[in-house]
Amino acid sequence: MVYLALVLLFLAIVFFWQSNRQRKAAGLPGGRVIYTDTRGWGKLEKPLFYQALSLTGKPDYLIQQNGQIIPVEVKSGRAPAAPYDSHIYQLASYCLLVEKTYGKRPPYGIIHYNDRDFAIDYTRELEVSLLDLLAEMKRDEHKRDVARSHEQASRCARCGFRKVCDQSLA
Ligand code: SF4
Repeated sequence: MVYLALVLLFLAIVFFWQSNRQRKAAGLPGGRVIYTDTRGWGKLEKPLFYQALSLTGKPDYLIQQNGQIIPVEVKSGRAPAAPYDSHIYQLASYCLLVEKTYGKRPPYGIIHYNDRDFAIDYTRELEVSLLDLLAEMKRDEHKRDVARSHEQASRCARCGFRKVCDQSLA
């Protein structure tokens, strides 16, 4: 089971990088810039796990405020004009894991870049889009090859899988 979860996590990361198509179809939220006080951020000891989807993940921080639990994903480097689709889906999966683990649905999650924070609303539309993506991943789980979904060399250049990916453009 742990192995399966790890495989799914690996596939999730690959798909997160390939998710531009899904974002356009789903109209993912672009995020809004917010100010956060990092003093209230709590580190998570162990990854969260949701058995029904064999999904696991570990937000960098959880913020507890006003009875809500908000996941935070920290990204190194300067903020892009809008969060990447891959970052949005990763954060959405953390929102799902928080809801399933603690029984409280986060209204939003936070992506923290070096110079800016974005709040991403965890809408029903985003959740449905995430579940569609996870279902697609499960279907492709045993395929040897999964087609690249973009033509952006710059994206491959930033991808941590480019050395093992036979479809890399960089
Ligand atoms: S190297 Fe390019 S094609 Fe391969 S997984 Fe990364 S982004 Fe996708």
